[in-house]
Amino acid sequence: MADTIQLLDNRWNDQKAAGLDEPGKLLYRSNLLGSDKRITNYGGGNTSAKVLETDPLTGQPVEVLWVKGSGGDVGTIKLDGFATLYMEKLNSLKSIYKGIYDEDRMVGFLPHCTFNLNGRAASIDTPLHGFVPFRHVDHMHPDAIIAIAASKNSRELTRQIFGDEIGWLPWRRPGFQLGLDLGAYVAANPNSKGVVLESHGLFTWADDAKDCYELTLQIINKAISWFDQQTAGKPAFGGEATNSRSASERRAIAAKLMPEIRGKIGIAERKLGHFDDQPAVLEFVNSNDLRPLAALGTSCPDHFLRTKIRPLVLDFDPEKSNAETIIAALDSALEAYRTDYARYYNDCKHDNSPAMRDPNPVIFLIPGVGMLSFAKDKATARIAAEFYVNAINVMRGASSVSEYQGLPEQEAFDIEYWLLEEAKLQRMPKPKSLAGRIAFVTGGAGGIGRATAERLLGEGACVVLADIDAEALKSTYESFSKRYTSDNVRSVQLNVTDEAGVIASYAEASVEFGGIDLLVSNAGIASSAPIETTELSTWSRNIDILATGYFLVSREAFRLFRRQGIGGNVVFVASKNGLAASPNASAYCAAKAAEIHLARCLALEGADAGIRVNTVNPDAVLRGSKIWNGEWREQRAASSNLQVDELEEHYRKRSMLKLNVFPEDIAEAIYFLASDASAKSTGNIINVDAGNAQSFTR
Ligand code: NAD
Repeated sequence: MADTIQLLDNRWNDQKAAGLDEPGKLLYRSNLLGSDKRITNYGGGNTSAKVLETDPLTGQPVEVLWVKGSGGDVGTIKLDGFATLYMEKLNSLKSIYKGIYDEDRMVGFLPHCTFNLNGRAASIDTPLHGFVPFRHVDHMHPDAIIAIAASKNSRELTRQIFGDEIGWLPWRRPGFQLGLDLGAYVAANPNSKGVVLESHGLFTWADDAKDCYELTLQIINKAISWFDQQTAGKPAFGGEATNSRSASERRAIAAKLMPEIRGKIGIAERKLGHFDDQPAVLEFVNSNDLRPLAALGTSCPDHFLRTKIRPLVLDFDPEKSNAETIIAALDSALEAYRTDYARYYNDCKHDNSPAMRDPNPVIFLIPGVGMLSFAKDKATARIAAEFYVNAINVMRGASSVSEYQGLPEQEAFDIEYWLLEEAKLQRMPKPKSLAGRIAFVTGGAGGIGRATAERLLGEGACVVLADIDAEALKSTYESFSKRYTSDNVRSVQLNVTDEAGVIASYAEASVEFGGIDLLVSNAGIASSAPIETTELSTWSRNIDILATGYFLVSREAFRLFRRQGIGGNVVFVASKNGLAASPNASAYCAAKAAEIHLARCLALEGADAGIRVNTVNPDAVLRGSKIWNGEWREQRAASSNLQVDELEEHYRKRSMLKLNVFPEDIAEAIYFLASDASAKSTGNIINVDAGNAQSFTR
């Protein structure tokens, strides 16, 4: 355990709680408990209160169970996340229960017990709360308690630490029978305040919301202190076997490795990656006991549902190896993992088990480097890593005071492939069209780039905003991370003309998300001057940003796509001016023409690797564009003998369709080219200019 003991603080505020009704206090308690990951992991555990309500049918008081609904998280739950059930009806189910083989059928009766037409589905843990005859029940997954629950002699340890205060029940999958077991336990031990469930977690109960909260904290703190005493001065995990590489080397290795792994495990379904090298992870991956402990698998059902039963430990000697060493051995390591997963499935499956799911690992452990996790979206990958850190904490505790035990494979399988779990997966909404995709958008803090990033985020993509403008980048990042969650957005300050900067920004994207699938090369400027007065510096600036910059970002994208090996997609934002000559803008027009031809060359080169390259040509997108805020606007107005505020209307009238073009219109065309709807298009140009005969493609 940690060097200095850190107990949980009591954060109950009487003043705050005084104004709350019972459901309000339940919510308050739940959010307090869920706000500290040492008390319970994300989505793990549940809370309940038995409350007197007025029956809408009879107007009479009736006892109602408020309990966290299916799939919620106590830390972030709101009142509508609780299911509500008539206690009387819930208790009456005991009379129709036929025994353990009947458990799944009982889940179907829970909706019949619903109070007040509440649409929130009751979870399979509902009987665990309903059948405990106390008004308030907390079921938490604290690392310190699971460490006891996952120890070989967990029953004795529980008794040694808590005496009669807390009881112990053997492992049983959550459901109706476990609810009955808990009820029977309380009936036989009316003075006990809770139980440790083997390989699972903690139950605590009280008749008052605050008492229940304080009891939960007190029990966890007791376990934390006990571990602290037991482990003081002892090396964890059998001591250190190897040293960590430096922080920057760890990141560089992860950046090289993640696209390779992503490509190999993301063929059927794209995956997002997450890298974690926090001290708890490094302590474990550098230890002597890494392999034997990792092979035992995780214990708490919540853990392995997120992390798979066991991680893949990659061979790496931090003293001698480099990223290439791991990459060379990746295929065989993955193959061995998949074979073992298929063995686990075949050994444990039942006649009616769902088909085998993705056999690839979720968690990758690398000595000296850290942990990688991959899942169908970034939040799930991050949360899987958090769960594995919980599992590491559990293994550290259990193995230091006893022998750590994972859950038996058959039990793990019966949860992983439980028909009710499968039904939950089937009910999940269809993924959005760009789910699992990673986009790198240059000029992402400008008008068109920002609209594009928003369109892609809205379709489920993760986006790296790359822009030279630090201030605009910051505000764009902040606004998107609020709206689309900070999991899905990253920002990197980048000058697209800086070769080393471009390389570094792709490494950043790789380590943050696992790779990239889509480059939107959009960063740009504009200039206007007759050729005689065009300075060499103006010419070079246009060529540097619009031609060389586009070359640099696409060269790096191609390198990454080829390493990932799952195709790729590039969209260039060029201009009508790249096709149609325009007076007094030769540097800009020539650079944009170079862009368009570069895109065509890359389409040719990339096709064999499934890399598509297409171009969108905007014209006269004044709104939201920083280009049109600057002198370009004055110059264009002057060249048409107009006032600056007449320009927008001028361009509308000049267009064939008599329409203005907005950043969102360009974003729509980019989205089409980014999506599978255009899977069979490459080397193409889409003009989004409201019609301009001069720029018809040919
Ligand atoms: P904008 O100025 O709003 O956005 C361009 C972004 O690129 C800005 O955020 C800027 O900071 C960034 N940028 C500039 N130089 C950079 C560099 N060296 N490295 C990284 N980032 C850099 O302009 P916009 O209208 O959104 O333009 C986007 C693209 O569309 C440009 O390539 C532009 O040429 C093209 N385009 C725009 C129009 C239009 O009417 N707005 C018409 C045709 C083509």
